[in-house]
Amino acid sequence: MADTNTPLLRRKKKKDWMDWAVQFRWILVITVVLPISLAFDIWAEFGNWWSARKSEKQRQKEHDKHVEEVAKRLKSRDPAKDGLVCTARKPWIAVGMRNVDYKRARHFEVDLAPFRQVLEIDEENMVARCEPLVTMGQITRMTVPRNLALAVVAELDDLTVGGLINGYGIEGSSHIYGLFADTVVWYEIILADGRLVKATRDNEYQDLFYAIPWSQGTLGFLVAAGIKLIRIKEYMRVTYTPVVGTLRDLGQAYLDSFIPRDGDQDNPEKVPEFVEGMVYSDDQGVMMTGRYASKKEAKQKGNVINNQGYWFKKWFYQHAQTALKKGEFVEYIPTRDYYHRHTRCLYWEGKLILPFGDQAWFRYLFGWMMPPKVSFLKATQGEAIRNYYHERHIIQDMLIPAYKVPDALEFSHQEFELYPIWLCPHRLFKAPVKTMIGPEPGFEYAERPGDTPYAQMFTDVGLYYTPNPIFRGEEFDGIAACKKLEQWLIDNNSFQAQYAVSELNEQDFWRMFDASLYNKCRVKYKAIGTFMSVYYKSKKGKKTEKEVREEESKTLEDADVEKPMTD
Ligand SMILES: Cc1cc2nc3c(=O)[nH]c(=O)nc-3n(C[C@H](O)[C@H](O)[C@H](O)COP(=O)(O)OP(=O)(O)OC[C@H]3O[C@@H](n4cnc5c(N)ncnc54)[C@H](O)[C@@H]3O)c2cc1C
Repeated sequence: MADTNTPLLRRKKKKDWMDWAVQFRWILVITVVLPISLAFDIWAEFGNWWSARKSEKQRQKEHDKHVEEVAKRLKSRDPAKDGLVCTARKPWIAVGMRNVDYKRARHFEVDLAPFRQVLEIDEENMVARCEPLVTMGQITRMTVPRNLALAVVAELDDLTVGGLINGYGIEGSSHIYGLFADTVVWYEIILADGRLVKATRDNEYQDLFYAIPWSQGTLGFLVAAGIKLIRIKEYMRVTYTPVVGTLRDLGQAYLDSFIPRDGDQDNPEKVPEFVEGMVYSDDQGVMMTGRYASKKEAKQKGNVINNQGYWFKKWFYQHAQTALKKGEFVEYIPTRDYYHRHTRCLYWEGKLILPFGDQAWFRYLFGWMMPPKVSFLKATQGEAIRNYYHERHIIQDMLIPAYKVPDALEFSHQEFELYPIWLCPHRLFKAPVKTMIGPEPGFEYAERPGDTPYAQMFTDVGLYYTPNPIFRGEEFDGIAACKKLEQWLIDNNSFQAQYAVSELNEQDFWRMFDASLYNKCRVKYKAIGTFMSVYYKSKKGKKTEKEVREEESKTLEDADVEKPMTD
């Protein structure tokens, strides 16, 4: 266990040219990245508008044609000659920060780019059928005006259905509904042999259904998913509660904001519909809870309405922080604005990218161009800056049992001293089979706050920023800190989001994640030799063609030891 009481001694570090390059990167962002991002958004908006005008029948017809093309392409692959299969998506387009270096090696591309339409909004069964490249911004634009929403809407506009399912996705309602993939009713998957199958919780492909989340597209290509819809109201009534105290006090206040002391976790009267916590320093935080409210309620005399989505508005994390000065307050935010409250400032990363982006003059004059697209930021950073970020900037999500939040805050302070920290609760459901991530064994008997017999309450502790030692000009070893974080997670039955940079070796990767069902499905659905393994895909560093070949033969050999699991 790490000693979290003794402060680390850090030596001073001289600034080098890379520090300056990063400090003045905003020049490139303003002149190149922001205009391109805006043009791209306008183009995408036009595409979505065009797609929404088509009939469901037309969209389905196009979908069938694209599915056929993917199946044909997969069947045309010669495993002896061609490389492992990858999507043709350029590495820089994805939001995730992990190196997508495997795409630099020889690979067999399959183009999933046309899969970007919402195929059906079925209000009767409360399911939205979406193609994988549908973004969160696109779906909320379609559903919110109808007082409908996905049960879990990840906050950033550009996150995609396919990425949130095959990777992970979370938001302030995950303490009720679980992670994004938990809200999926069925998956439509094209397997390695080009077959299209539909996997549900209880059909013949049940194993595949439970193996898809966190598999990073290494079991097959997702071409559509049915996702649970919920009924919503026009506004979110948000309560901002300031908390001052030790990190343990802040952690406890966060847990108290959504966990009733009497254990009545399924009682909607006692549990808010939305929860998030922001820890601003080692002694200050603001806990937020939200409840849907009708337009009529929001517009009642005396209520404060905050149209947070306007381009000139104070960035959300700074707005929430004002509770520390003015005390607890309540306001009503239009629901769509609330869902995407962190988009314009990319949580608080916007402050690093454009240090003056939060100033009133910038917000009023240029706020409408924000945010720069993460994909274009990545495309324009070059190798040196990318490595700099890996070592001197943290983007990590720690998914930990909720009762460990106070410990995690202390650990994070010791190793990273990075603020703000994002806290977002989520359930981890017990599944009938062993999934890649799951609750702690025996959690049901411990009866800890927030847990129910069918799910353990977890929390995403989001660390996204530059650590304070770097701001103070001290030495900071990001790789060593990342390794300590990963060890802490393994020791505490916790998980690292795979979109982040990882230093795990293969053995430790599979100590953190459960391989049993995943490996069984890799064998059963003939993914080995077609899709690279999830560890290999998440692994940091360049991959040469030779390495890809070795990996291919290694995974083929390993297939012998990947024994099917007995359920
Ligand atoms: C700056 C930043 C902010 C973030 N904010 C949030 C947030 O607010 N909420 C949240 O929940 N998460 C957030 N994340 C994490 C995010 O959830 C992950 O990156 C996630 O995987 C989605 O990213 P993406 O849509 O770009 O998917 P991608 O990175 O493109 O995809 C993720 C994985 O899924 C695979 N995949 C994608 N589509 C398919 C398909 N059709 N078939 C098979 N495999 C597929 C890809 O190959 C890849 O391995 C954030 C990450 C960053 C870096």
